[in-house]
Amino acid sequence: MTTTETPQKPSLPIVENFTRRAAVKGAFATLGAGAFVAAISPLRQAARNSSAAEFMQTHYSELSPEQKADVIARLEAEAKEKYDADVTIADDRPIPGTKFVYAINLSVCNGNGKCVEACHKENNHDRDTNQSYIRVIEMPKGTMDMEKGSTTYTGAVPKDDKFYLPVQCQQCDEPPCVDVCPVKATWKEEDGIVVVDYNWCIGCRYCEAACPYHARRFNWKKPEVPAKEVNPDQSYLSNRIRPVGVVEKCTYCLHRTRRGKLPACLEACPTGARVFGNILDPKSNIRWILENKRVYILKEELGTKPAFFYYFD
Ligand code: SF4
Ligand code: SF4
Repeated sequence: MTTTETPQKPSLPIVENFTRRAAVKGAFATLGAGAFVAAISPLRQAARNSSAAEFMQTHYSELSPEQKADVIARLEAEAKEKYDADVTIADDRPIPGTKFVYAINLSVCNGNGKCVEACHKENNHDRDTNQSYIRVIEMPKGTMDMEKGSTTYTGAVPKDDKFYLPVQCQQCDEPPCVDVCPVKATWKEEDGIVVVDYNWCIGCRYCEAACPYHARRFNWKKPEVPAKEVNPDQSYLSNRIRPVGVVEKCTYCLHRTRRGKLPACLEACPTGARVFGNILDPKSNIRWILENKRVYILKEELGTKPAFFYYFD
């Protein structure tokens, strides 16, 4: 894999003079009237639940440092008001010269689901629906077709005739979820992480439908997290508690990984199946795996170019 000559791309989408009103107008032109009415239904609901400041907030890429500070202060105050939690929301940006890649050793994963639980807690998911960005699929041996497995398996693991395939956002290099967003609320950053501006998303769910890996989640209701369970260490584009009516996704725990830590799912894995790191670092474990193991990607035929690999020892 050639990794040293990757051209530098801007890390943010170009959204000139892109007010929320202009975004909605643009969506009308893109979608047509019928689809537009359906698409903005969650937006109308969100507007009823939003403060004027939140509704009029500009796109993340258009916020000045002062505006960002105001937005973050407002979100921290909201967390106190709605969840009785003292949280700190950072604006973690990509580290130059970093491209994050994940790999999982499927010979070692035994389907225990500790990664799913860790994601649930780390990312402040709704407790009622037991949401997580990770699904572990119990797979029949002899196939890598994730659609043939079960996410609702029960009983002792591992079973002799099965293997276990954890699936989360693959941080695709050609992400169909980004292409379909009518308001540019989701984009791919310079370190490879695909993010969502949860204050810009209108909840149309086009991205959720476009994702071939079922990696996006829609917030049907206000997430419920008890005050003592809120992870207070948050980031604007990552694990802050997301509003109702928006689509959310795994960000490779950017609030940790952009600060030099590992994703929570990796730290929680008791089998050592997970490997994560900067592929541009020639001394990294992830680089070694990709250079020395026979790795697989899911649904290769779709051309999505995942930054997420699987291998067997
Ligand atoms: S896995 Fe799905 S949500 Fe993640 S980047 Fe690819 S298409 Fe988008
Ligand atoms: S991020 Fe997804 S749900 Fe939100 S506006 Fe874009 S396509 Fe619609």
